[in-house]
Amino acid sequence: MAGASPITPARAAAAGGPGGSELLEAKLGLAEFLVASDNPKETAYRSLEWLAEYGELRRGVCLTFDAESGRLGGLAAVGVDPAAVERFTIEPDDHGSRILSLALGRQTDHFDDTRAGSPATPLGRGRYLAVPLSGRIGRETVPTGLLLLGPPTDVLREMAGWLGGILGHRLARLARLRQALESDRRLRRERMLIDTVPDPIILTDTEGAMLVANTAAHRLFGSVEGESEGRRRAVALNNMLFSSAVPQGGWRSDAQSRELLLVDPQEGSDLLFEIITRSVADAREGTAQVAVLRNVSDLHRATEQIEENYRRVRVAEAEARAERDRLDLIINSVADPIVVSDPGGAIVMMNDPAERIFSVPEGASPETALRVRANDAHFSSFVSNLLFGEGTTRHHGGVSLVDPPSGQALPVEAVSGKVLAEHGELAAIVTVLHDRSEQVEKERLYEELKLATEQLEQRITQATVELAEQNEQLRRSKLELEAASAAKSQFLANMSHEFRTPLNAILGYTSMMLQGITGPVSPALEKNLRRVDSNGRHLLALINDVLDISRIEAGRMPVTLSDFELPGLIREVLAELEPIITRSRLSVRSELPRRMPALTSDRPKVKQIVLNLVNNAIKFTPSGSVVVSTSFDARRKETAVSVTDTGIGIDPEDQERIFEDFRQADNSPAREYGGAGLGLAICRRLADILDGRLELRSRPGQGSTFSLVLPRKPRRR
Ligand code: ADP
Repeated sequence: MAGASPITPARAAAAGGPGGSELLEAKLGLAEFLVASDNPKETAYRSLEWLAEYGELRRGVCLTFDAESGRLGGLAAVGVDPAAVERFTIEPDDHGSRILSLALGRQTDHFDDTRAGSPATPLGRGRYLAVPLSGRIGRETVPTGLLLLGPPTDVLREMAGWLGGILGHRLARLARLRQALESDRRLRRERMLIDTVPDPIILTDTEGAMLVANTAAHRLFGSVEGESEGRRRAVALNNMLFSSAVPQGGWRSDAQSRELLLVDPQEGSDLLFEIITRSVADAREGTAQVAVLRNVSDLHRATEQIEENYRRVRVAEAEARAERDRLDLIINSVADPIVVSDPGGAIVMMNDPAERIFSVPEGASPETALRVRANDAHFSSFVSNLLFGEGTTRHHGGVSLVDPPSGQALPVEAVSGKVLAEHGELAAIVTVLHDRSEQVEKERLYEELKLATEQLEQRITQATVELAEQNEQLRRSKLELEAASAAKSQFLANMSHEFRTPLNAILGYTSMMLQGITGPVSPALEKNLRRVDSNGRHLLALINDVLDISRIEAGRMPVTLSDFELPGLIREVLAELEPIITRSRLSVRSELPRRMPALTSDRPKVKQIVLNLVNNAIKFTPSGSVVVSTSFDARRKETAVSVTDTGIGIDPEDQERIFEDFRQADNSPAREYGGAGLGLAICRRLADILDGRLELRSRPGQGSTFSLVLPRKPRRR
């Protein structure tokens, strides 16, 4: 306690102050208070009051140095206007100030505030004791303030001397405490400030060891209690990466910047930082490095995204270009002209076929240019229908154009359509034209064809009418003919009958004469009679034949069916022809199978046919043989009687004709063989009414086979 001197009770009592033990108590109480209080103002005020009570103080002020500014200002006062004391200050550079020099002094001194014109202190005019206050901070003794006390009595000097020692130290301690608190608060505020910065900030020493790190940095590089293994590894890796990124060693004037890839200890994901380091120098701390990390992951991602977007745009552009090229190719490969017009109706694009119609080629003649302009005008007028047609998106119709080089008419069919943009506004008009020349030509041909068809139809109608008339005439003629034919048949039948009666009489009388019933007959007469008989019989046969045909044609040939065996019939035929066979000197025989089914037919008619066939075979066979055979086709249920000869045969061209009425293979008047040519005609008709048929196989010079084919039973009857 510098400047303190023991107060003896005797001296205190002599000065009229309190007694020894009371004073000691008072001193102890004050000392205790001063040690306990941490409020400088209260400390000063209490000290002045104590002096007023025990040290005869009337007016006093305590001045202290402000730790930061070094300014000397009023702290507390007794017997003085406190507001004036608070306002009172002396700047540290006020070197002429007596009070400042007193405060910096070491000894208690006198201060006389009466010398100057106006009082230098709020104490007012008077003489005062100036007690400098000082205290130790560390090893240093520093001035802490000044007590100006009045009136300057001995008691006050003694008490103030004692008190000044304690108060100076106490104020020094409190100032230091306050300073520490203040710097601690400032530090905390600064800490708070750097902690609120979202970017990691780190202070390292020149060796790269971390000195200070804010919260954001701590999250990346700091370990926490009970952390996971993954986080621990991530933090260790981050620290390693960080130290390799921070430049070590001495002072660097420029800020260094580089990229640093770290790991997010929480998420485990990559974080890209830009690290900026700068050297800082401090007189006490020396050189250090400040590193500020800026998270550029998002920026990096955004850059990547932008690059990706840009790449996509490029790809899309290339695709669009390719698409457009393809479209051009397609449009140009279409044979029909295609024209794209803008919303104003001006042509903006067209394919090659359209170019031929709507653009003037280089070196074209004035006529060609004129035609192109005319085409343009017609086309524009067509497109305007769509442009000014309210609400329509499509227009269809014909346009009359011309082929510019040739001037030939080019009738086209056109369809225009609106192409709408995203918001429904008109973007373009596409028109497709189709050459109708061919169709027009086809239509013309069609019209011609239609006319010709109509004319033809008219003619056909007319011809049909004529034909119907002719048919009617024919029908009538047929009826007439049928009537005539019936009349003819009737006439022939009648006539034949009429012929036969006298002929039978002639033959009868001739026979009687030849038999000598009418008297003896000379050989010459007999010869003539035989001629009459022969010709008469021939005539009778002829008349019978004519009668048969007439009957058949008139439908008056009756058919009488019976069951009979063919061998018997054949035997009968051969027996009847016996005289002719004998005369012919031919080998005439029958070849009959053992078993033949019985036949159901008209026996006399079958016999008549077979008789005729055998008769013809003998007649037309100069030498050789005639064979009569039968056969049965079980599948077709048909029986055949065949007559085969080795005679003259029949030319192929005659093979059908010989079945016609009055037809003979040799129709010449000088023919070799007799006959009327009715036999086969009758045979065919008879076979027909028996549901059978006549077949012929013959080769000239080799012979013939006539076959009568009959059903087992006739169908019709
Ligand atoms: P005709 O009374 O003349 O014999 P047909 O009608 O019986 O009349 O025969 C017609 C013609 O068919 C005959 O004139 C003859 O030329 C030819 N003809 C018929 N049968 C034979 C045959 N077996 N061989 C060759 N020719 C035949």
